[in-house]
Amino acid sequence: MADDCIFCKIIAGDIPCNKIGENDDFLCFLDIKPITDGHALIVPKKHFKDVMEFPKELDEGYFAFCQEMAKKIVGTVKADGFNLGMNNGRAAGQIIFHQHTHLIPRFDDDKLESWPHKEITLEELGELQERILKS
Ligand code: 5GP
Ligand code: ZN
Repeated sequence: MADDCIFCKIIAGDIPCNKIGENDDFLCFLDIKPITDGHALIVPKKHFKDVMEFPKELDEGYFAFCQEMAKKIVGTVKADGFNLGMNNGRAAGQIIFHQHTHLIPRFDDDKLESWPHKEITLEELGELQERILKS
């Protein structure tokens, strides 16, 4: 548990949340400022700053739990799809530094735009590919 972490406090029961699922390793609760109805956060009960600290041994259980929660939430709010997403680092929009996955129900008519794409030449793509492969 990290002393200054709001999600650790939620997991410990020191701060209330709208819990919708739980097992030994993970907790799922509704986001306090939802993007759509049913927007939920899935968190490991142990404190990890972001996905880079997340241990391999929890991988399988985490995705199984995400699938379980997606089925329940999507069924309840009758969503047409859902996004599963993680913000890692301040530049990516992370504001709570306890690793979490957003489960955001999506609806055919929700009018939410996804990220804008940019144009890139095939040459630039190839250069990027080389740099990443060499790193
Ligand atoms: P991030 O931007 O770090 O990926 O997302 C953090 C999310 O946590 C935000 O969507 C925000 O609304 C949510 N959040 C922040 N504080 C609380 C809280 O005290 N309770 C709940 N349920 N959600 C919170
Ligand atoms: Zn924490």
